[in-house]
Amino acid sequence: MLVKYCRNAHPLHARVYPAHSRIWKRLVAIRERAEEHLHWQLGRGACNFWVESWLPSSPINSASSSHDCVKDFWADGAWNLDQVVGLSQDQRAEIFQLRIISDIDDIPLWKLSNNGDFSFKNAFDEIRVSTELSPIYSAIWASTIPKKMSFLVWRILKNWLPLDTLLHKKGNQFASKCQCCWSIESHNHVFLTNPIAIQVWDHYVGMFGIWQQIFTQLHLVFKAWSLTVSEKGYIRRLIPVLILLSLWVARNKAKHSEQRYCFHGIVKRINHCLSIIVHSGMLYYKHWKGGPRGGCLV
Ligand SMILES: [Zn+2]
Repeated sequence: MLVKYCRNAHPLHARVYPAHSRIWKRLVAIRERAEEHLHWQLGRGACNFWVESWLPSSPINSASSSHDCVKDFWADGAWNLDQVVGLSQDQRAEIFQLRIISDIDDIPLWKLSNNGDFSFKNAFDEIRVSTELSPIYSAIWASTIPKKMSFLVWRILKNWLPLDTLLHKKGNQFASKCQCCWSIESHNHVFLTNPIAIQVWDHYVGMFGIWQQIFTQLHLVFKAWSLTVSEKGYIRRLIPVLILLSLWVARNKAKHSEQRYCFHGIVKRINHCLSIIVHSGMLYYKHWKGGPRGGCLV
């Protein structure tokens, strides 16, 4: 790979072209980050004087395109830096502390390991993009929620349900009407802002002492319910999931089975779901910490 892609340039500066291999492109994508964790223990001084990290502090000039090797500035057992420009006083002082040992190769040391050996594991840990787990997704995929429910809530959050506004976008022409009033049936109206949904959210917000404004975005609702909650599966993360599910079920029953869409029916369903989860052994006492006073809703 060195011969193929780095004929006239240091690997840190070699260019990438569309025809190059995927492996080479991936290596190039992470080379600066990997180089930060590499240090050369000086032996015969074959590493690049300017670009590579052989001084304790840092590379001398990582942007340099010079091919000078460290050994080029060593002669007769001493450093010859008289003609070298671009070195700070500190760098010169550091260099004079080091020695070339001509019968030993330079040794690359991986700074992230205890013994200097390269390790794929800690290299991967360093390079991978770590993202903070979203409170929404950690709530819906919690162990206390049956996977069937998690999947449905995931679809709700993704707005992948056949609501009127979505069907309109797909070209279907019909008059939209929600199940509680004469509003258009939109995602936000069904799950957050219709009068019954507001009543249901308010009911549980009051019960759990959650500070919740009238939100128009579900991720803000989950954020409010997840604040101060660190444990996955906590009751405070479960309740908004059950509210969404029950609002959706109530909407479907009203639309397709002409059942009444009402506050008491929805709350009854939420409590029933909670009861099933408790009796199935998926919810333990520890999950109620921070829940409503008295411990149980059902
Ligand atoms: Zn409505």
